[in-house]
Amino acid sequence: MEPVSSRPLSDDVVFDDGSVGVYLHLPFCDRICPYCDFAVLAASPLSPDVEARYVADLLRELAARRDHFAGRRLATIYFGGGTPSLFQPESVATLICALRDAFPSSSTSPSFSSPATRGTEEITLELNPSTTEAARLPGFREAGIDRLSIGVQSFDDEQLKKLGRAHRADRIDSTLAAAREAGFDNVSLDLIFAGPGQNAAALDRDLERLIAFGPEHVSTYELTYEPATPFGRALASGQMEACDEDDAAEMIGQVEARLTVAGYERYEISSYARPGRRARHNARYWQRAPVLGLGMGAHSTEARSAVRPHGARRANPRTLEAWQSALVKDAAQAGEEESFSVEVARGEAVFLALRQREGLQAAVFEKEFGKTPRGFFGNEIDGLLGRDWLEENALGDLRLSSEGRLLADSVAAEFVADVGEQD
Ligand code: SF4
Repeated sequence: MEPVSSRPLSDDVVFDDGSVGVYLHLPFCDRICPYCDFAVLAASPLSPDVEARYVADLLRELAARRDHFAGRRLATIYFGGGTPSLFQPESVATLICALRDAFPSSSTSPSFSSPATRGTEEITLELNPSTTEAARLPGFREAGIDRLSIGVQSFDDEQLKKLGRAHRADRIDSTLAAAREAGFDNVSLDLIFAGPGQNAAALDRDLERLIAFGPEHVSTYELTYEPATPFGRALASGQMEACDEDDAAEMIGQVEARLTVAGYERYEISSYARPGRRARHNARYWQRAPVLGLGMGAHSTEARSAVRPHGARRANPRTLEAWQSALVKDAAQAGEEESFSVEVARGEAVFLALRQREGLQAAVFEKEFGKTPRGFFGNEIDGLLGRDWLEENALGDLRLSSEGRLLADSVAAEFVADVGEQD
């Protein structure tokens, strides 16, 4: 990593470039994994009627909400879930066409945009390793998908079983091969570490297999035990034991070391990419750029405007029934909006920037909030510098240190917990 003092002000840090990203939440899964805390529903198989109704509801919500983002260039589309690949390619194609009709696309799209994306920078679909879904890959490609995010999680059958995943390692191999055969040259793999009973040697074997496949992007997650999940309850009752904190921190370092040597850049706390392959849609969240979220449980990031000077987040109802009823009542207002106070916006600006490799640029922060980060968070910054969790240059730019990257959540908490106390 280059020294923090040598970084120029980045051109791609923008408040708003007139674009919009769209997130579509397709919540159905073959079965629910015991650690999953997302808005999901079991559907095995997904019935054509349920699929058709869900697509119709998404189109209804799009028609009602598109005016909030009127005139914006469609930059990215992300089909997340759930398991979006349970939907038929025809449904995905219908949704992409509707989005293109709703928003203009840029004629000056990046050069790596495939012909299929027609001016949109990136169209991602999440996929789980399975025979049925692998067979649909050519159809998804034809529909316009140009990036896959595959929920591999581990290459070890025992670990997959302990995680309660439906797939096994042989399905991963065949799905990855099918993805390349279908022409996908931008593939991201998800990997979970610090899972039940996993040690450094087992993680090393997973990393070895992952690197051998050569994905363009990798997302890594430490297993978390959310209270409302079966894993969370098992932890609370003593039936399960979480990975020791120090061991988990060592695993974070192990993942970074292996992937860096293999040519990946850790450009965000959980994300690694080969050059030019950073996730464009995900970057919108870290840069607080507008995102229209459609579907049950989806979140939107509203554009900053005169009525929302510091932005707003909108959260859709988390159950299918509640979301569908809200659409019937008033599709434009299906979610609950939370307008950000300036204090919350400042805290978010700091901790989201610190998640990224480039860190927080003081001049960019000052342009938005009137003072440099020190002007609001001097004590917090000094405390974190004292613990060697943060680096600061002469311009006041901030970045996590290598120690801080192991403890990113604790660093973030320093800025978020105190936002109410700022002036
Ligand atoms: S496949 Fe993913 S979204 Fe579905 S239940 Fe498992 S973790 Fe949750």
